[in-house]
Amino acid sequence: MDEREKSAELMLLRLLNKRMRLDAPEHLHSLEKGFVGECHLDKWLNSVTSDCIILDDLWLQHKQSLFQVDTLIIFPEKIFILDAKNYSGDYKVDGDYWSTLRGHEIKNPLHQLQRCVTLLRQLLQSFGYTLPIESRLMFMNPEFMLYQAPPELPAVFTSQLDRFLRTLNASTAPLSKSHHALAAKLTSEQLTTNPFALQQSYSYDQLRKGVVCVRCVKGVMKREHNHFTCASCGTNETVHQSIIRTINEFMQLFPDKKLTTQIVFEWCAQQIGERSIRKFLTKNFIKKGSGTATYYEARDSTDSANER
Ligand SMILES: [Zn+2]
Repeated sequence: MDEREKSAELMLLRLLNKRMRLDAPEHLHSLEKGFVGECHLDKWLNSVTSDCIILDDLWLQHKQSLFQVDTLIIFPEKIFILDAKNYSGDYKVDGDYWSTLRGHEIKNPLHQLQRCVTLLRQLLQSFGYTLPIESRLMFMNPEFMLYQAPPELPAVFTSQLDRFLRTLNASTAPLSKSHHALAAKLTSEQLTTNPFALQQSYSYDQLRKGVVCVRCVKGVMKREHNHFTCASCGTNETVHQSIIRTINEFMQLFPDKKLTTQIVFEWCAQQIGERSIRKFLTKNFIKKGSGTATYYEARDSTDSANER
């Protein structure tokens, strides 16, 4: 399985973090941590050998309630919902109350998982499916310890991953047409627009211009002949790669702004000549309008700027 697509929120916050001071940098940090946990889970799932269908990052709606399923696995006899967590350090649980050992309360991760199971069950019933649903919090970080965890907690800790895998792989029955129909139905029910609201507001004028480093957070890349080099970490890329990336970043941040030679010139902090930008845009985008009103549109929704 490929590395899962980064959520739109994480992607935008990463881009913004390179060009402004975020209101809540700790939120980006927690998204990054969560993302690492999800990637670990995806990798681990490669070892599941029994017949099953794995669906990632489903945004679904039942009646008026939105819910997100991180990882849903359809097995012949049941459905599993797995929620990857990448907590590290020492925590304790006391009934419904979760906290760090030092007593700092954290959100009980079970609540969200239980809500998700309830809504998914109702949704499946409305489709006419009655497969049982099981759920697990998947603690993927070996440096996580949860004191006083009750045995009935629907969780898998790193020391239990191998055994849990054997349980999943014990299923030998094949999936039927109806399982595949369910997967198709769930995929088609996916919400197409991003249901999350980005908490961070930003405007074009407020963002730092220039070619920012692809690797480090605050690095600015400086032009040297046909290359851009990061002053902080030394990362190197060709001018061609920098143009593609910088235009893509602009379009992700400002999907409603018109793409023009002038704005790309300004967005790159004038580090790439207008002629090169115009040539690049003409070659890779669809030209609209003429004269000073010329602007460019992506060829289609796929990322045509990545093709040479
Ligand atoms: Zn750098």
